[in-house]
Amino acid sequence: MALINQDFRPQVKRSRHPMLRWAVFATASIVLGVVIAKTSSNSQTPDSLPSFKQVQPSQDEMARLSFELTLPELQAKQEILDDLNQEPVKQWKEFTVKSGDSLSKLFNRAGFKPLQLDEVMKSGAVAKKLTRIFPKDVVRILTDDQGVLQALRYEIDPETYLLVQREQGELVAKEYKHNIEARVAHAEGTIDTSLFAAANESGIPEKLIMELAGIFGWDIDFALDIRKDDSFKLLYEEMYRNGEKIKNGDILAAEFVNDGEVFRAVRYTNPETKRTEYYTPEGKSMRKEFLRTPVNFTRISSRFTTKRYHPILQRFRSHKGVDYAAKRGTPIRAAGDGKVIFKGKKGGYGRTLIVQHGSKYTTLYAHLNSYNKKMRVGKRVKQGQTVAYVGSSGLATGPHLHYEFRVNGVHRNPQTVKLPSSRPVPKKHLAAFEQTISPVLAQLDLLSRDTQVALAKTE
Ligand SMILES: [Zn+2]
Repeated sequence: MALINQDFRPQVKRSRHPMLRWAVFATASIVLGVVIAKTSSNSQTPDSLPSFKQVQPSQDEMARLSFELTLPELQAKQEILDDLNQEPVKQWKEFTVKSGDSLSKLFNRAGFKPLQLDEVMKSGAVAKKLTRIFPKDVVRILTDDQGVLQALRYEIDPETYLLVQREQGELVAKEYKHNIEARVAHAEGTIDTSLFAAANESGIPEKLIMELAGIFGWDIDFALDIRKDDSFKLLYEEMYRNGEKIKNGDILAAEFVNDGEVFRAVRYTNPETKRTEYYTPEGKSMRKEFLRTPVNFTRISSRFTTKRYHPILQRFRSHKGVDYAAKRGTPIRAAGDGKVIFKGKKGGYGRTLIVQHGSKYTTLYAHLNSYNKKMRVGKRVKQGQTVAYVGSSGLATGPHLHYEFRVNGVHRNPQTVKLPSSRPVPKKHLAAFEQTISPVLAQLDLLSRDTQVALAKTE
């Protein structure tokens, strides 16, 4: 379990109503007890644990209540507080944004004067978020018995909310973070026809399965390599807000058994690069490396451009690759580990080879003189392996390699495209890496395929 947000910074403020603040905090504490306990276990200053005597209750707690309670519950609390303070009862109201609504329309509906809208918009920079409200969004508003706005709460996204509150007579807008908690969940499946069918059967969300396919996509072709009885299991995070699940988080660890071969991956943040990615249990990156240049060339005869003059076609056209001039017959190396998905003549490209790398990348090699004899569609290639030889087939003025690099089907400049790095976990961090992943892998080991599928079905 990891807490990704800790927003319990008790704010010490001048209090005009100590009694009210006291009561607010007391009620808030009941609701927040669990969350506080969890937060404190991670707290770096255990001596300053929130307690009734040490902490000055802040407006944050009322904000949280305004989120967690239903409207009648919230109103009941408000009445108790106002009564305690011998104040006229203030009223919480709830407004749901309708299609075509703006804040001014909503305010109109709520019976506010335009002046109050101005005041809200001037209450701080974050109040600008209210100009982008969406249908079905909920805005909660607190007014005093004169109908003057005292507070407004709006959920910006599942993790953040905006609170505009009257402080010493002036409206002040602030953004707050909810306490989001990650819990570990698991899922498993055995493939009968396809990965997606299996996921569907086990009740696993499609997004998680896409991520799973992405993690193993360098090793397994999920369209062609899948066999009946292949299986998978994964540990992933579920994000909870105040005890309520809001979404699935990241995959922490996963296993895929393809045709009897076991692939495993764990999520880890490299302490040096601060980049989080998936590694094998040995600390190798799940992503494979790319060569920047797949051929020993004499010069670059044409660069990547979206517009250039074509010497043979004698007109301007874009050049979505790089031309590397080299002697006829110079070996061309696969830019990365992958699989041949095309081999053959392709119009002006002449003899062409296309290699798929993982799920996102493809490289194309054109004007080839000839192919490595072993190459055929579906053939796995290793990075640096000779796949073909430089030539001038198709529309070419002289022997050169025309090389293209695509990311998600889009041409990118091979000379500048950010290539996925695949560095292993640095040696000096390997011990820490193993310490981090061993409990996760142990959890993965514990999963029993049959029981889990059953579990997923009953959920
Ligand atoms: Zn070219």
